[in-house]
Amino acid sequence: MTTQTETLTRMVNVILLGPPGAGKGTQAELLVKNHGLVQLSTGDMLRQAKASGSELGKRVAEVMERGELVTDDIVIGLIKEKLSNSEAKGFIFDGFPRTLAQADALAALLEETGVTLSAAIELQVDDKILVERILNRAEQARAAGQPVRADDNAETLTQRLAAYHAQTAPLIEYYKSKGALKSVDAMGEIDAIATELNAIVSQTPA
Ligand code: AMP
Repeated sequence: MTTQTETLTRMVNVILLGPPGAGKGTQAELLVKNHGLVQLSTGDMLRQAKASGSELGKRVAEVMERGELVTDDIVIGLIKEKLSNSEAKGFIFDGFPRTLAQADALAALLEETGVTLSAAIELQVDDKILVERILNRAEQARAAGQPVRADDNAETLTQRLAAYHAQTAPLIEYYKSKGALKSVDAMGEIDAIATELNAIVSQTPA
Protein backbone atom coordinates (compact mmCIF):
# COMPACT_ATOMS: atom_id res chain seq x y z
CA MET A 1 0.00 0.00 0.00
CA THR A 2 1.55 3.26 -1.08
CA THR A 3 -1.02 5.54 0.51
CA GLN A 4 0.06 7.56 3.48
CA THR A 5 -1.95 7.88 6.66
CA GLU A 6 -2.51 11.23 8.28
CA THR A 7 -4.44 11.79 11.45
CA LEU A 8 -6.45 14.88 10.71
CA THR A 9 -6.62 17.47 13.43
CA ARG A 10 -9.34 19.45 11.69
CA MET A 11 -12.70 18.64 10.19
CA VAL A 12 -12.66 17.59 6.56
CA ASN A 13 -15.83 17.02 4.55
CA VAL A 14 -15.61 15.78 1.01
CA ILE A 15 -18.08 14.77 -1.65
CA LEU A 16 -17.10 11.95 -3.99
CA LEU A 17 -18.71 12.64 -7.35
CA GLY A 18 -18.65 10.21 -10.23
CA PRO A 19 -20.59 7.70 -12.29
CA PRO A 20 -21.47 4.19 -11.09
CA GLY A 21 -18.30 2.08 -11.08
CA ALA A 22 -15.96 5.08 -10.74
CA GLY A 23 -14.69 3.66 -7.44
CA LYS A 24 -16.46 6.03 -5.01
CA GLY A 25 -17.17 3.25 -2.49
CA THR A 26 -13.67 1.77 -2.70
CA GLN A 27 -11.99 5.16 -2.30
CA ALA A 28 -14.38 6.20 0.47
CA GLU A 29 -13.41 3.09 2.44
CA LEU A 30 -9.72 3.95 2.05
CA LEU A 31 -10.36 7.53 3.21
CA VAL A 32 -12.16 6.12 6.26
CA LYS A 33 -9.15 3.92 6.99
CA ASN A 34 -6.52 6.57 6.32
CA HIS A 35 -8.17 9.61 7.88
CA GLY A 36 -10.87 8.36 10.22
CA LEU A 37 -13.65 10.13 8.34
CA VAL A 38 -17.21 8.80 8.35
CA GLN A 39 -18.59 7.46 5.07
CA LEU A 40 -22.15 8.44 4.25
CA SER A 41 -23.27 6.31 1.31
CA THR A 42 -26.92 6.82 0.41
CA GLY A 43 -26.73 3.71 -1.81
CA ASP A 44 -25.63 1.60 1.20
CA MET A 45 -28.33 3.17 3.38
CA LEU A 46 -30.99 2.39 0.78
CA ARG A 47 -29.73 -1.19 0.31
CA GLN A 48 -29.86 -1.66 4.10
CA ALA A 49 -33.43 -0.36 4.15
CA LYS A 50 -34.31 -2.79 1.37
CA ALA A 51 -32.64 -5.74 3.14
CA SER A 52 -34.42 -4.93 6.41
CA GLY A 53 -37.79 -5.06 4.65
CA SER A 54 -38.76 -1.66 6.10
CA GLU A 55 -41.47 0.52 4.54
CA LEU A 56 -38.77 2.74 3.07
CA GLY A 57 -36.98 -0.32 1.68
CA LYS A 58 -40.15 -1.47 -0.05
CA ARG A 59 -40.71 1.98 -1.53
CA VAL A 60 -37.23 2.23 -3.05
CA ALA A 61 -36.54 -1.36 -4.16
CA GLU A 62 -38.13 -1.16 -7.60
CA VAL A 63 -36.71 2.25 -8.43
CA MET A 64 -33.22 1.04 -7.55
CA GLU A 65 -33.63 -2.12 -9.58
CA ARG A 66 -34.60 -0.03 -12.59
CA GLY A 67 -31.42 2.04 -12.13
CA GLU A 68 -33.35 5.28 -11.56
CA LEU A 69 -32.84 7.77 -8.78
CA VAL A 70 -35.05 7.64 -5.70
CA THR A 71 -36.74 10.92 -4.78
CA ASP A 72 -34.71 13.78 -3.37
CA ASP A 73 -36.72 13.98 -0.14
CA ILE A 74 -35.90 10.36 0.77
CA VAL A 75 -32.13 10.69 0.42
CA ILE A 76 -32.03 14.19 1.92
CA GLY A 77 -33.90 12.78 4.95
CA LEU A 78 -31.36 9.96 5.31
CA ILE A 79 -28.41 12.33 5.19
CA LYS A 80 -30.04 14.80 7.57
CA GLU A 81 -30.51 12.07 10.15
CA LYS A 82 -26.86 10.99 9.95
CA LEU A 83 -25.50 14.53 10.11
CA SER A 84 -27.48 15.39 13.21
CA ASN A 85 -26.60 12.16 15.01
CA SER A 86 -22.89 12.20 14.59
CA GLU A 87 -19.87 13.58 16.35
CA ALA A 88 -17.64 12.64 13.44
CA LYS A 89 -14.56 14.66 12.65
CA GLY A 90 -15.53 14.69 9.02
CA PHE A 91 -17.70 13.09 6.38
CA ILE A 92 -17.27 11.53 2.98
CA PHE A 93 -20.45 11.94 0.99
CA ASP A 94 -20.50 8.91 -1.29
CA GLY A 95 -23.22 8.90 -3.94
CA PHE A 96 -24.86 12.03 -2.49
CA PRO A 97 -25.72 14.58 -3.76
CA ARG A 98 -26.87 13.25 -7.13
CA THR A 99 -29.13 16.10 -8.25
CA LEU A 100 -28.95 19.89 -8.07
CA ALA A 101 -31.80 19.89 -5.53
CA GLN A 102 -29.80 17.50 -3.32
CA ALA A 103 -26.72 19.71 -3.67
CA ASP A 104 -28.70 22.77 -2.55
CA ALA A 105 -30.21 20.80 0.33
CA LEU A 106 -26.75 19.63 1.42
CA ALA A 107 -25.41 23.19 1.31
CA ALA A 108 -28.29 24.31 3.56
CA LEU A 109 -27.80 21.37 5.94
CA LEU A 110 -24.07 22.02 6.24
CA GLU A 111 -24.70 25.67 6.93
CA GLU A 112 -27.27 24.80 9.61
CA THR A 113 -24.85 22.45 11.34
CA GLY A 114 -21.88 24.81 10.96
CA VAL A 115 -19.99 22.31 8.81
CA THR A 116 -17.83 23.47 5.89
CA LEU A 117 -17.47 21.56 2.65
CA SER A 118 -13.76 21.00 2.01
CA ALA A 119 -13.95 19.72 -1.58
CA ALA A 120 -16.10 17.96 -4.15
CA ILE A 121 -13.84 15.37 -5.77
CA GLU A 122 -14.81 14.19 -9.22
CA LEU A 123 -13.61 10.67 -10.13
CA GLN A 124 -13.29 10.68 -13.93
CA VAL A 125 -13.74 7.37 -15.78
CA ASP A 126 -14.84 6.63 -19.37
CA ASP A 127 -18.25 4.97 -19.72
CA LYS A 128 -16.77 1.96 -21.52
CA ILE A 129 -14.50 1.18 -18.56
CA LEU A 130 -17.39 1.62 -16.11
CA VAL A 131 -19.44 -1.06 -17.80
CA GLU A 132 -16.51 -3.51 -17.72
CA ARG A 133 -15.77 -2.71 -14.06
CA ILE A 134 -19.34 -3.21 -12.91
CA LEU A 135 -19.89 -6.41 -14.83
CA ASN A 136 -16.57 -7.70 -13.40
CA ARG A 137 -17.67 -6.73 -9.90
CA ALA A 138 -20.84 -8.77 -10.37
CA GLU A 139 -18.89 -11.71 -11.82
CA GLN A 140 -16.39 -11.72 -8.94
CA ALA A 141 -19.16 -11.62 -6.34
CA ARG A 142 -20.95 -14.48 -8.10
CA ALA A 143 -17.73 -16.55 -8.28
CA ALA A 144 -17.08 -15.95 -4.56
CA GLY A 145 -20.61 -17.07 -3.70
CA GLN A 146 -21.45 -13.55 -2.48
CA PRO A 147 -24.70 -11.75 -3.21
CA VAL A 148 -24.70 -9.78 -6.46
CA ARG A 149 -26.23 -6.30 -6.39
CA ALA A 150 -29.61 -6.37 -8.10
CA ASP A 151 -28.62 -3.34 -10.19
CA ASP A 152 -25.19 -4.65 -11.30
CA ASN A 153 -26.29 -5.96 -14.70
CA ALA A 154 -25.85 -4.62 -18.23
CA GLU A 155 -29.45 -3.49 -18.65
CA THR A 156 -29.79 -1.54 -15.39
CA LEU A 157 -26.33 -0.14 -15.83
CA THR A 158 -27.38 1.62 -19.03
CA GLN A 159 -30.12 3.37 -17.05
CA ARG A 160 -27.78 4.18 -14.13
CA LEU A 161 -25.32 5.79 -16.52
CA ALA A 162 -28.12 7.73 -18.23
CA ALA A 163 -29.31 8.98 -14.83
CA TYR A 164 -25.75 10.00 -13.99
CA HIS A 165 -25.25 11.99 -17.19
CA ALA A 166 -28.68 13.66 -17.07
CA GLN A 167 -29.06 14.37 -13.35
CA THR A 168 -25.68 14.14 -11.59
CA ALA A 169 -23.05 15.34 -14.09
CA PRO A 170 -24.37 18.97 -13.86
CA LEU A 171 -23.02 18.97 -10.29
CA ILE A 172 -19.50 19.11 -11.70
CA GLU A 173 -20.19 22.62 -13.02
CA TYR A 174 -22.10 23.48 -9.81
CA TYR A 175 -19.10 22.73 -7.56
CA LYS A 176 -16.66 24.21 -10.07
CA SER A 177 -18.54 27.51 -9.91
CA LYS A 178 -18.21 27.40 -6.11
CA GLY A 179 -14.45 26.84 -6.40
CA ALA A 180 -14.80 23.48 -4.61
CA LEU A 181 -14.18 21.05 -7.48
CA LYS A 182 -11.13 18.78 -7.69
CA SER A 183 -10.96 16.33 -10.59
CA VAL A 184 -9.00 13.09 -10.47
CA ASP A 185 -8.30 10.64 -13.30
CA ALA A 186 -9.81 7.50 -11.78
CA MET A 187 -8.94 5.03 -14.55
CA GLY A 188 -5.66 3.83 -13.05
CA GLU A 189 -4.72 1.65 -10.08
CA ILE A 190 -6.70 1.91 -6.84
CA ASP A 191 -3.58 2.77 -4.78
CA ALA A 192 -2.47 5.54 -7.14
CA ILE A 193 -5.92 7.13 -7.07
CA ALA A 194 -6.02 6.81 -3.27
CA THR A 195 -2.68 8.63 -3.04
CA GLU A 196 -4.12 11.51 -5.06
CA LEU A 197 -7.22 11.64 -2.86
CA ASN A 198 -5.08 11.61 0.29
CA ALA A 199 -3.13 14.58 -1.06
CA ILE A 200 -6.35 16.49 -1.78
CA VAL A 201 -7.76 15.73 1.67
CA SER A 202 -4.50 16.73 3.38
CA GLN A 203 -4.32 20.00 1.45
CA THR A 204 -7.89 21.16 2.03
CA PRO A 205 -7.99 24.47 3.93
CA ALA A 206 -8.61 24.32 7.67
P1 AMP B 1 -25.05 3.55 -5.43
O1 AMP B 1 -24.76 2.47 -4.44
O2 AMP B 1 -24.54 4.89 -4.99
O3 AMP B 1 -24.61 3.18 -6.82
O4 AMP B 1 -26.65 3.71 -5.49
C1 AMP B 1 -27.48 2.64 -5.88
C2 AMP B 1 -28.86 3.17 -6.21
O5 AMP B 1 -29.44 3.79 -5.05
C3 AMP B 1 -28.91 4.25 -7.28
O6 AMP B 1 -28.93 3.72 -8.59
C4 AMP B 1 -30.25 4.95 -6.93
O7 AMP B 1 -31.36 4.16 -7.32
C5 AMP B 1 -30.20 4.94 -5.41
N1 AMP B 1 -29.49 6.13 -4.87
C6 AMP B 1 -28.33 6.15 -4.15
N2 AMP B 1 -27.99 7.39 -3.80
C7 AMP B 1 -28.95 8.20 -4.33
C8 AMP B 1 -29.15 9.61 -4.32
N3 AMP B 1 -28.29 10.46 -3.73
N4 AMP B 1 -30.24 10.09 -4.96
C9 AMP B 1 -31.13 9.26 -5.55
N5 AMP B 1 -31.00 7.93 -5.61
C10 AMP B 1 -29.91 7.39 -4.99
